[in-house]
Amino acid sequence: MEEGFRFADAIGPAKMVYIHQPAAGLRAIVAIDNIAAGPAIGGTRMALDVTAEECFRLARAMTFKNAAAGLPHGGAKAVIFADPAMPAADKERLIRAFARAICDLAEYIPGPDMGTDESAMAWIKDEIGRAVGLPAVVGGIPLDQIGATGFGLAVAAEIASAAAGLALKGARVAVQGFGAVGQHTARFMAERGAILVAASDTRGAITDPDGLDIEKLRALKAVGGSVTDLGGGRKAAPEDVVAADCDILVPAARPDVIHMANVEAIKARLVLQGANIPATLDAERRLAEKGILSVPDFIANAGGVIAASVEYHGGSARSVFEEIADKIGRNTRAVLERMRAGGVLPREAAVELARARVERAMALRRFHD
Ligand code: NAD
Repeated sequence: MEEGFRFADAIGPAKMVYIHQPAAGLRAIVAIDNIAAGPAIGGTRMALDVTAEECFRLARAMTFKNAAAGLPHGGAKAVIFADPAMPAADKERLIRAFARAICDLAEYIPGPDMGTDESAMAWIKDEIGRAVGLPAVVGGIPLDQIGATGFGLAVAAEIASAAAGLALKGARVAVQGFGAVGQHTARFMAERGAILVAASDTRGAITDPDGLDIEKLRALKAVGGSVTDLGGGRKAAPEDVVAADCDILVPAARPDVIHMANVEAIKARLVLQGANIPATLDAERRLAEKGILSVPDFIANAGGVIAASVEYHGGSARSVFEEIADKIGRNTRAVLERMRAGGVLPREAAVELARARVERAMALRRFHD
């Protein structure tokens, strides 16, 4: 097979576009995986060390995430090969050059990702009229400010805790990574009666079986402090949160933090995956064997991309919460049902659900078998 087609399977990628404009110092790849459900939404990343294969795999993850969320959008990803820490004026020039280069690639709608932010999306929209994750002044819905992803995780928690034999009211929650996702998850779960008993950031962890003050922790983080600056509670190492004495564990920091070397220590009965791929596949299997329910990332943390879709279709911040509650509620139930009916792992059930939606959308396109 030709080199450029080495990732191809029945779903995609529909296009792998290589952009090379030496005069602008621009080198980029756009992987548009599948557009059967609609134009593809996916992040534009600025980094030096991403391969074409990784770019494609990230695009495929977006195809499944958007399909699982029931959005009328396919999946894509773009990488601009550059150092995101470059001077601001150079970065703006490069991102604007990238935007003009993808002008005719109408089936790709860029969103923010590592190394890009809402201002970068505003520059892209300014050049070509499309992008999501925009600043509020140009019609954006500030998803990290309103806590779109954390709200969705709390919705998933409500449904999954019942399936795990837990009541969310009174459930003890440990959050690894007290950033945008972690803080809002803690806040929205507390609104439903849960108690935050452990939280961590890169500098350490803090635990208190009687409950931590979420607003005080958020205030510390807002001024650049650490959760460990909170008076009271017991301090611990950041990685100790995985083994915290709790009912629900929310990894909301980095990939692969739950692995075969620490999975046995997990005491929670429910793991809600806030971060992307926070557990290795063998650790996920082990969690299931131990009777611990783990709600996969692209089901539980889809709040952000649902908010991006609402923004793209002209909806309001208020309608974001309704959409997230509806979509994540339905999808969490559907995954749990499939899991039980098929005797499969939660991730397998989630991929089956997403793949079936992509295939149904593909069957409605003009060219198919
Ligand atoms: P963030 O940078 O706001 O927060 C991350 C937090 O994790 C920080 O407080 C950091 O100190 C902490 N952290 C990093 N490494 C840690 C470690 N080893 N132990 C403990 N804490 C650690 O990022 P975010 O937007 O909250 O995203 C968190 C994760 O969720 C990422 O994997 C991201 O890809 C994923 N995600 C985010 C969104 C969103 O809407 N922001 C949506 C879907 C998925």
